[in-house]
Amino acid sequence: MSEVTDQAVYKTLLESTRAIPWKIDWKTMTFAYIGPQIESLLGWSQASWVSAEDWAMRMHPDDREKVVEFCISQSQNGVDHEADYRALTAAGDYVWIRDVVHVIRDDYGEVDSLIGFMFDISERKKTEEQLLTLQKQLEEYSYKDGLTGVANRRMFDTVLASEWANAQRTQQPLSLILLDIDHFKQFNDHYGHIQGDDCLKSVGQALSRAASRPRDFVGRFGGEEFVLVLPETDEAAALHIAERCRQQVRQQRIPHERSAVSSLLTISLGVGTIVPGAHDRPLDFLNSVDKLLYQAKQRGRDRLEVARTPARSTQDDAADARA
Ligand code: GH3
Ligand code: MG
Ligand code: MG
Repeated sequence: MSEVTDQAVYKTLLESTRAIPWKIDWKTMTFAYIGPQIESLLGWSQASWVSAEDWAMRMHPDDREKVVEFCISQSQNGVDHEADYRALTAAGDYVWIRDVVHVIRDDYGEVDSLIGFMFDISERKKTEEQLLTLQKQLEEYSYKDGLTGVANRRMFDTVLASEWANAQRTQQPLSLILLDIDHFKQFNDHYGHIQGDDCLKSVGQALSRAASRPRDFVGRFGGEEFVLVLPETDEAAALHIAERCRQQVRQQRIPHERSAVSSLLTISLGVGTIVPGAHDRPLDFLNSVDKLLYQAKQRGRDRLEVARTPARSTQDDAADARA
């Protein structure tokens, strides 16, 4: 084949691929060539690609600085590279592009030109974004109780551990409310499980309304038991929120004919507050609040119980021992 036919073959090959070839002269920063396919992809005519500036300006403003800086520094160092960015179309939309760049040096080792291929990666990006959304959803599901929509037990464990450590460090009071629906077994027996499930959803919603600070946590502890973690909340404030929980559930006005306490659905609550010392353990605190909940049941239900003496830290105990 003659050189001329050779060139024609290469040109045909280059211009019939889906990847868009281009060449930039390094010294003048101008396009020596760009494949005609660019026009069907972005809508800008082949002739409109004159300088590297045209390339930079047809890039999403959020990508521009980072990508241009990266490509220039890689090229200066003579390193082949690739960059993903959103390219502006003539219609004003954006298309995700992967630019794969080879640095060509002259006989003296100086950068002579850049040769590259642009690939349309919008489909891939779309899939990636879908995967990311899916992953976020999965993460959310794994921390959310499927029935009630409040956080689940696993999330509670994580939150309690981290708020415990916070309270230990800041020496701010941490409050915990454990609550349990009264005579829920009879509720299920009388109204059926479907209505029982609806009732759990309503209680979850009522509790979410009762605690409104951004760091307040509401979760399903298990079965028909719920838990609230209230950071930087002293006993008085915790009692106030516990009372609000009781009221919010009452305001749902869920009939409970078989309850021995009331004709409407009620809850019992245990409320504890602690400024945890270095050696205190969250599990002991949780157990102490659980005992209070049990007391509330024993003492007639539809009520809250709080520790008579404030929960003490082992540091206090140690101080007492020294006294
Ligand atoms: P108490 O006032 O002492 O708490 O009595 P109770 O009947 O509420 O207590 P118990 O623990 O005996 O019963 C809890 C009931 O909660 C039994 C169980 O069927 C019901 N339950 C637990 N989880 C679910 C759930 O996801 N859906 C429904 N519908 N019921 C549930
Ligand atoms: Mg229970
Ligand atoms: Mg119960």
